[in-house]
Amino acid sequence: MDYCKPRTVDEALSSFGDDSVYIAGGTDLGVLLAEMLISPVGMIDLCAIDDMKGISRSDEGLTIGACTLISDIAAADDIPDCLSLGAAAIGSPQIRNMATIGGNICNASPCGDTLTPLMVLDAEFELKGAGGRRALAAGDFFRGPKKTALEPGEILTAVRIPAASLEGSITGFRMTGKRNGQVISQVNMAVWAVIIDGKIENIRISAGSVAPVPLRLIRCEKMLQGKTAAEIMKDAFMKNLAAAAEVEITPISDVRAGEDYRRSVSGALLVDIVTDLVSEGVKDED
Ligand SMILES: Cc1cc2nc3c(=O)[nH]c(=O)nc-3n(C[C@H](O)[C@H](O)[C@H](O)COP(=O)(O)OP(=O)(O)OC[C@H]3O[C@@H](n4cnc5c(N)ncnc54)[C@H](O)[C@@H]3O)c2cc1C
Repeated sequence: MDYCKPRTVDEALSSFGDDSVYIAGGTDLGVLLAEMLISPVGMIDLCAIDDMKGISRSDEGLTIGACTLISDIAAADDIPDCLSLGAAAIGSPQIRNMATIGGNICNASPCGDTLTPLMVLDAEFELKGAGGRRALAAGDFFRGPKKTALEPGEILTAVRIPAASLEGSITGFRMTGKRNGQVISQVNMAVWAVIIDGKIENIRISAGSVAPVPLRLIRCEKMLQGKTAAEIMKDAFMKNLAAAAEVEITPISDVRAGEDYRRSVSGALLVDIVTDLVSEGVKDED
């Protein structure tokens, strides 16, 4: 197999040929290679491309290079909580020190732990291919389990989170798994909200591992939009919210969890995050 380690995105693009693969941290790709599920002719390592690493802020928002390590995202204190918590939920320290955010996105596993945070943050993915640059909303990128909108040879160079998703908002993330350590999510959920005068002015909710792609729970968002903390914190409202989450998702049963479990845990996770965010939002205003 031919292996190369280009220093620029253009060099990587020109190295790509038939039966080539890009590799970043290799934590997903390495499993496929070890099990001989793929046998590429060429391997193009993206990890020496400095322009694809690091987290930067501007008036327009946050830019995260696709080769930024998951451990750096988990440790960053100037990014939304849901994203650092999602990153911290991935695998073990060893995995997080190899894995990249770009690999998590391009692997497009329904249980990828940064995907629901990126959905609620309205993230945009910057892609570069033979035909030039383009940007795609996170919601348009995921096409199915392990399927993305990437054209052959196209590279995800960066993730952009708009300033509108950063200012004046609070976020949360939860996941459930069978044990601590290198556990893959049975269900994960991220919530982004703007709370003003004790009222939810805007909210986005995304659930993972409950459908072929990370889902936005639009019906639950509508139930919460415009509601006050007092209205939300009522038992009857929370029960209805959990029930709405359970019917809005389309989970399957697999080795990690059954469909029924995924439905009931989704409702419980949503209630848990919303309770925390509403309490935090009201407290911040006092
Ligand atoms: C033991 C173990 C535990 C794990 N636990 C979790 C977990 O809890 N949560 C979770 O979400 N994931 C988990 N994973 C999966 C994996 O670690 C993550 O998905 C990781 O973020 C992948 O990043 P990577 O850089 O290693 O990707 P790689 O393996 O290098 O690449 C993954 C795929 O993306 C493509 N690719 C990578 N970067 C780019 C790019 N910039 N542009 C275009 N294509 C690209 C590659 O060609 C490949 O198809 C686990 C994996 C292992 C082995």
